[in-house]
Amino acid sequence: MKLIIFDLDQTLVDFISVHDEVTRRLFKEFFDIEPRLTEIDFAGKSLNDNLRGLARLRDVPEDVFQRKSQQLLESYETIFSKSLPPDAAKHILPGARELLNELSKTDHIIALYTGDSPGIVSSVFRATGLGKYFKFCLYGTQVEARADMVRLAIKRAREITGRDFKNKEIVIIGDSVRDIECGRLFNALTIAVATGFHSRVQLLAAGPDYLFEDLKDNKEILAAIKRV
Ligand SMILES: [Mg+2]
Repeated sequence: MKLIIFDLDQTLVDFISVHDEVTRRLFKEFFDIEPRLTEIDFAGKSLNDNLRGLARLRDVPEDVFQRKSQQLLESYETIFSKSLPPDAAKHILPGARELLNELSKTDHIIALYTGDSPGIVSSVFRATGLGKYFKFCLYGTQVEARADMVRLAIKRAREITGRDFKNKEIVIIGDSVRDIECGRLFNALTIAVATGFHSRVQLLAAGPDYLFEDLKDNKEILAAIKRV
């Protein structure tokens, strides 16, 4: 039995075009500027972090940003939710649903950690139907650092199973260098997928246990999880 923690954006789903457009609209409305999300290295970071980083990059004064940040987040959730098509199947990355399906037949604890807020994740789940696969989710707007999310995941998994998951009993699957670095802190099994903004070279430099092009090769990924 393992604790398998999936990242969401660019690992299981690709809603970056929606995130990018929501960001542009909100910054226009709140700060009268129109930045693109891709101006910053957003992969594997929390939404708050990214919005703050973008505001800083575009010279929005810190106090102005702080004053509006709560409202910004609330509007983000509302606009994001309205921007999603009712059936967002095409935003699910190759092999993701099939892999989750296979894993759901095992006794592994499947969890999600993401920089997104609960409202965004529930919109994504509503549009994709992926929510049913996860025992629990950890959100970047509640716990900013990925390592703290993993600590919480270990605690939750212990509450559910009575077992202490450690080292390679913890599996982290993500598309960013930050997912790999986070996994290494726990000596977890790290599985990187090259479906995000970090290149294969960047991902390999972070030293994942495995690097896959995407999640399509379910058999190989399941074998990698089983191997250790
Ligand atoms: Mg990601």
